[in-house]
This record gives sequence, C-alpha cells and structure tokens, in this order.
Amino acid sequence: MTQTAAGGIETLRAAMTGLVLVPGDEGYHDARRVWNAGIDRHPAVIARCRSTQDVVAAITLARERGLEISVRGGAHNAAGTAVADDGLMLDLSELREVTVDPEARRVRVGGGALLSDMDAATQAHGLAVPAGLIGHTGVGGLTLGGGMGWLTRRFGLSIDSLVAAEVVVADGRVLRAAQGEHPDLYWALRGGGGNFGVVTSFEFRLHEVDPMVQFGLFFWPLDQGGEALRLAREVIADMSLGINAVVGALNAPPAPFVPEQHHLRAGYVLLLTGFGADDEHGQFVQRIRETLPPLFDMVTPMPYVELQKMLDEGNAWGFHCYEKCTYIENLSDEVIEVVTEQVPLKKSPMSLVLFYRLDGAYSRAGDNDTAFSGGRSPRFSAFVVGFAPNADLLDADRGWVRAFWDALRPHAVGGGDGYINGMVDYGEDRLRSAYGAAKYDRLARIKGEYDPENIFHLNANIKPA
Ligand SMILES: Cc1cc2nc3c(=O)[nH]c(=O)nc-3n(C[C@H](O)[C@H](O)[C@H](O)COP(=O)(O)OP(=O)(O)OC[C@H]3O[C@@H](n4cnc5c(N)ncnc54)[C@H](O)[C@@H]3O)c2cc1C
Repeated sequence: MTQTAAGGIETLRAAMTGLVLVPGDEGYHDARRVWNAGIDRHPAVIARCRSTQDVVAAITLARERGLEISVRGGAHNAAGTAVADDGLMLDLSELREVTVDPEARRVRVGGGALLSDMDAATQAHGLAVPAGLIGHTGVGGLTLGGGMGWLTRRFGLSIDSLVAAEVVVADGRVLRAAQGEHPDLYWALRGGGGNFGVVTSFEFRLHEVDPMVQFGLFFWPLDQGGEALRLAREVIADMSLGINAVVGALNAPPAPFVPEQHHLRAGYVLLLTGFGADDEHGQFVQRIRETLPPLFDMVTPMPYVELQKMLDEGNAWGFHCYEKCTYIENLSDEVIEVVTEQVPLKKSPMSLVLFYRLDGAYSRAGDNDTAFSGGRSPRFSAFVVGFAPNADLLDADRGWVRAFWDALRPHAVGGGDGYINGMVDYGEDRLRSAYGAAKYDRLARIKGEYDPENIFHLNANIKPA
C-alpha cells in the first residue's frame, strides 16, 4: 500500500459503519476473492459498505488518495472487474436488504444483493423480478448490463422492470434516477453497466409468478446434435409466452437424475420451463420424447426459487472462466452446422455453449428505450463459455471460445459483440460494436456529465465524451 493510502485508512474507518480491510487484516483474502478463480488481485483497501453514506466516504477517500475504484456487487463478472491490484474495492456485499411492497408491486433491493436474496423475498408474495439463471449472481452487475433469464419472454429484461435507482455519482452526490428524475442517468443505468456511479439500491416493478413451475431437461449425445438442435428450433418456434427454453451443449452433470454411465458425457441439452402453462409444457414433453428420444431426461414440477438455484452448483465459485457472446437471429441450419462442428472440439468438460431465447416482452421495448447493448428484435443471446477447474485447461479452451465465436460471427445480428454481461474483452471498439455507434455516443455524453474524470472505469468502460 502507498503511504498516501495508508494515511487515509483511519479516517475512512472513522467515517464508515462497515469494515475497512487492508492486506494483513483477518478476512482480507476472503473479501478480495471473486467468482472467477483465474482472478487473483490484491486491492490496497477493501471498503465493506453498509450504507449509502459509507459508499460516499469510500469514494471520497479514493479520490483524495488517487486510488483506482473497483465496485463489487455479487463478484460474478468473469473479467473480475470487482477487484483491482492496489485499488480501493468498494464492496457492496453487505448491502443486501430486500424490501417488498406487495400492494404497490414494488421491491427495493440493496446494490449488493444476490438474485437468490431477491427471489426468496419476492416469491414469498408470489411475485418476481425477471433476472438471470444463477442464484449467486449479483443483482447489481446483472441489472446494470440488462439482465436476462427464464422470465425475459414474459416480462422483459431486468432493466425493463427497473423503475428507479439510488446512485452515488463520482462527485459524491446521492441521486435518484427514475422517469422524470435525472432521466438521462436513468436511461444510461438501464444497460450502460457500472459506468455512471454506485447504485446503492434498485427499485423494481414486480410481476405475478406462480411459485410452482414445470421444468424439463432433455439430453442427447454428440452424434445427434444436428437433430436435437433442429427439434429445439421447432419447439421454440411453437412456444407460447408461458414457456421458455434454453438450448445448448454441455457435459452431463454427475447428478442423481443422470444415469451413471452418462455422467460427464458431452452432449446437447434443451431446458424447457413452463409458467402456468402445464398442459402446453406436457404436450412439448411428449412431442420431444416421441420425435427424438433423449439419452435421458428429467421432467418435474418445482418451486420457482429452486429453478433459480438449480444451476448454482454447476456454476460454483472457484473455477476459471473465459467467455464471449453474440446475438443470432435464429438456429438456422448454418448456425447448427457451426455449433455441431465446434462443440466436440472443446477440451474442458465444463466448457459450454448456451442460447437464451429473447422475444415476446423483450421485443416490446424499443431499441433506444434503454441503453441495452443489443437490439430488441427477436433473437438468441449465444454465450460461449470456457470453464475449467484450473488455468491450464482454461488456456486450452480460450482458443476454442474465440474460434467458436469467430465462426458464429457471420450469422450474428448487430455488430457481432453481443451482451456486455457476456464479454470479458472490453476494448472501446468492442463496446462501440456492442452498443452501436449512436447509443455508444449518447452513453459517452452522459458519462461526461456524471463521471467526467472516468473514476468508474473498471467495467465495460464508456469513455466520457
Ligand atoms: C455463471 C454465470 C452465470 C450468469 N448468468 C447470467 C444470466 O442468466 N443472465 C444474465 O443476464 N447474466 C448472467 N451472467 C452475467 C452477469 O450478469 C455478469 O457477470 C454481472 O456482471 C454479474 O454481476 P455481479 O454484481 O455479480 O458482478 P460483479 O463482478 O460484482 O460486478 C460487475 C461489475 O458491475 C458493476 N456493478 C455491480 N454492482 C454494482 C452496483 N451496485 N453499482 C454500480 N456498479 C455495480 C461494477 O462495474 C462491477 O465491476 C452470468 C455470469 C456468470 C459468471
């Protein structure tokens, strides 16, 4: 730690209600860890904020001492933007309060809450905010990038339900961004990432979601990839908004519902979830089983909160990750050819590719209604994820991720660089391509207004105009 940083620690400790950790303190090493085990950085200071005032104090100290600021929500970002060597880590992991107002159909969520916190509190009232697939993802980073998951077809992205946010901006002011209150900031927060300040709380509109859903998982071997993906395409084309699907390729987990001889076997998967559409879900199950009998399947009702945690273990902390993503309009024969050529080439059994369906309510928002990095025409968000238990195996799959993405790119909608929450390489050109030039320039102007010195730059960074 520099002399100047050391000098300010006691001042910060006195100003904050939350803990301030420096190297050598108990808990420092746990606090600096992030989800991607490939990230091993040592911040000079970790400010574990418990209140909006703590966030203001930490930003003030960082500015005075010239420390780079990183912001940690759920720490899931695969690029590890939550932590920087020698910087000040603004740790929001204790800002996790979730307050539901069932009458008003609103929920206020702390800036460091996890999806599982939000789902548990809202589902107690039969309500939900559309979010992502993994319970230990942070609401903060997920929402600021957009937020897509099982409910996106019915209710849109997380940002489409965001009605307000409390934000500490670069000069220490605490602002409320909403329709009619700093509307430019409100627009930019809905997709522009962590560029515009630290969100201490999010306020979302809630939607009715029946606590029980119908779930189906169908798995086919590698040599049936083409047929499986074509069947998935047909099913997806026929789904009402009561059903959603995620399709992709991965290795079968060593889970009790998987016959032992298929544990860790590579193949193709279709996940099909029904929300209040039991009959339709049942008909799809029958159609899938009759058309192309899977190697194994698992069909069961389950609580929505369990669905939201079902993939947590397979995506646990402590593994190495590198990913790229893009949007494609359809699972065309050409795309299926790319996928079935690339999938067998991966080296790590944990690496995977997933296609999320985006249409319905997703497409009811206009392209420029929010700052989201993607157009709103119906499409799939394709995530190509290198995932491995150690750095060497991940290195072996970095090239696979890039080659797969290159091969998908001719079929991409937009610039080719997709959703900012599925990227780890953040060059300015990539971000311009992801947002499109006009949206990027508008974001850069707003950045210039709220963070002209770019103190919040450890993120998918928009340079201030
Ligand atoms: C296994 C896995 C599964 C995923 N699944 C999905 C999915 O289903 N759907 C989806 O949409 N995305 C998904 N993502 C992507 C995810 O949305 C991003 O990784 C997101 O950045 C995670 O947010 P976080 O708060 O956990 O991360 P962090 O690493 O803590 O934060 C990432 C960045 O977001 C910003 N940030 C976070 N919180 C705040 C805040 N309160 N105020 C200001 N800035 C903040 C900061 O710039 C920070 O550096 C997944 C990621 C992983 C690794």
